[in-house]
Amino acid sequence: MKVPEIFGENVFNLQVMQDKLPKEVFKSLKETIDKGTPLDAGIAGIVANAMKDWAVEKGATHYTHWFQPMTGITAEKHDSFISPTKDGKVIMEFSGKELVVGESDASSFPSGGVRATFEARGYTAWDPTSFAFIKDGTLCIPTTFFSYSGEVLDKKTPLLRSMRALNEQALRILRLFGNTSVKRVFPTVGAEQEYFLIDRKMYDARKDLVFSGRTLFGAKAPKGQELEDHYFGPIKLRVSEFMKDLDVELWKLGIFAKTKHNEVAPSQHELAPIFTVTNLASDQNQLIMETMKKVASRHGLYCLLHEKPFEGINGSGKHNNWSLSTDKGGNLLDPGSTPAENGQFMLFLMAVVKAVDEYQDLLRLTVTSAGNDHRLGANEAPPAIVSIYLGEELTEVIDALEHDAKYKGKSKQIMKLGVDTLPELPKDTTDRNRTSPFAFTGNKFEFRMLGSTFSIAGPNIIVNTIVADELRQFADELEKAPDFNAALHDLIVRTIKEHKRIIYNGNNYSEEWKKEAERRGLLNLKNSAEALPYFAAKKNIELFERNKVFTEREVRSRMEIMLDNYSKVLTIEALTMIEMGRQDIYPAVNAYIAELCGVIEHKREVTAKMDISAEKEVVERLSAANSAMYGSAQEIEGLVAEAKRITDTEKQAKFFADKVIPAMEKMRAFADEMEGYTAKKYWPFPTYGDILFSV
Ligand code: ADP
Ligand code: MG
Repeated sequence: MKVPEIFGENVFNLQVMQDKLPKEVFKSLKETIDKGTPLDAGIAGIVANAMKDWAVEKGATHYTHWFQPMTGITAEKHDSFISPTKDGKVIMEFSGKELVVGESDASSFPSGGVRATFEARGYTAWDPTSFAFIKDGTLCIPTTFFSYSGEVLDKKTPLLRSMRALNEQALRILRLFGNTSVKRVFPTVGAEQEYFLIDRKMYDARKDLVFSGRTLFGAKAPKGQELEDHYFGPIKLRVSEFMKDLDVELWKLGIFAKTKHNEVAPSQHELAPIFTVTNLASDQNQLIMETMKKVASRHGLYCLLHEKPFEGINGSGKHNNWSLSTDKGGNLLDPGSTPAENGQFMLFLMAVVKAVDEYQDLLRLTVTSAGNDHRLGANEAPPAIVSIYLGEELTEVIDALEHDAKYKGKSKQIMKLGVDTLPELPKDTTDRNRTSPFAFTGNKFEFRMLGSTFSIAGPNIIVNTIVADELRQFADELEKAPDFNAALHDLIVRTIKEHKRIIYNGNNYSEEWKKEAERRGLLNLKNSAEALPYFAAKKNIELFERNKVFTEREVRSRMEIMLDNYSKVLTIEALTMIEMGRQDIYPAVNAYIAELCGVIEHKREVTAKMDISAEKEVVERLSAANSAMYGSAQEIEGLVAEAKRITDTEKQAKFFADKVIPAMEKMRAFADEMEGYTAKKYWPFPTYGDILFSV
């Protein structure tokens, strides 16, 4: 297979546009893509027609506006290209209007109260900065999604808005450093995706996996990840065939799938693409997740993207590698080699430090969900406390700057920003801190708190917006300064003093850090119900309005949607537990108890002397646990009914977190205990051992 030949073959990319479009039209479209200028309405028809011809040539029969509603996944509604002719036949047609705007019934998408029921119309609008592509015979056109009154109903529009804010403010900073050549600054993202791959038959046999994506019951298998023999281990043939197939599918879609390896837990793997502009990275991550599921099913496998499919072994996350690029190819988070470049680097770096400190709450809540609650702050990576890792070298530089002291590195002098050069920073990956939620890794930041199912749009909206806002404040101050270098130095030293509490280079999983973080006054928001209400804090609403990313109504609607989703997910999980408990586990255990009672009776018939102590013990144990589990199910049912009556979404979410989850954990403990004592042939579904070592 010739990879360069298949790469991007299903994408209407710049190369194809150049081939298929008249010169002038291509130029105009390219301008829109590069500069974000409005699309020239006159060319839409020509582009649409070229797109359709190209797609039909490749076997496509339908098109769809492909958008990202607040469900976190993508949405599509397919229309065929056919248009009737007078003689009762059809021709394939696609107009400029069909390309540029779509109208769809928005009433079944979450809107958090923004879309009134009497106005169900939603509109989709083409995002020309993300290329159209063909998927399963359908031309997919990436679009934004908004309501009749213009409020956004999707994750893409605010992402584009946050990128615009960041561009505006970053350019102001660059101009201060005398850079007039850069015309555009954009955030880049490389999202590493973790996932589990299990046998499809195992998946089908577990209602909890089918309904909730995770196992709600299951005793620990004798073997988990303790031998650490899976991480980077040799990839099994069946998995390797899946991965090869996946790579090819992704390459055809123009996605730079680059790295693949086994992860820590059994059956867990990872895929990392090469980074790209954030809105594309976001579209591509959606396609990666979707393609993983599709390709898995071709191989008799099932791809689990849930954050915590199995208790007792690692869950899955998504590392969001984030940096700032310029249209000249520079990386603004790469320390340069001249004093000016270094001063500029330090300024961008401090903008991130200040942003992370001031908006810990937003970073925390943007990675919150019922699924990710099992990871953040539980006994695995990363913690719920937001902090930033800068590494030893940078921290020493910062210390020296703060105290006007000599930096002990090779320069051995008091450093003046904008005048002196920074010491060379190591880019060695070996000494990276893997426990930090927000780590500087040489020329980018790695935000490690995202859950594996997440759309990366949400977290990147936050990162872009908070950094844009700090850059705005910096630019406001520096633009007025009579002596730029002195003002720059002062600003950076002040920022270090005020925000260094957010820097932590130690082990983020330790108990010691929890205590230290509390002393430093850092937030420790334990779950979704606790974190989400911060969304609508006054300072946050002001932030979003100042940067034109969300209106207050949009913030509140998003918060409503996330809270509501949390309660809904937990309702589904609770109901699934009740059903599996009552319909599967309870009768199965009773059947085994009946068998054991039969054994006891038979033994007694033979001779009174036969030992029946083991049978009696197991019967007693199982019967007690089964009754207790049944009781738990009754209790959960009552609690869910009570939760339903709570109309305030915030209170409802809190009720689920405080009341329903502990009851679910109690029920599970009874079931897991019984699993260990029930004959295998009676247990009603595959066990952890069966599932995790099935491929
Ligand atoms: P790790 O050691 O964490 O596995 P890698 O060095 O392999 O990390 O990189 C992880 C991800 O970071 C990749 O997706 C890569 O493309 C991305 N990345 C590298 N440079 C940048 C950048 N400047 N901006 C955004 N992402 C980047
Ligand atoms: Mg990583």
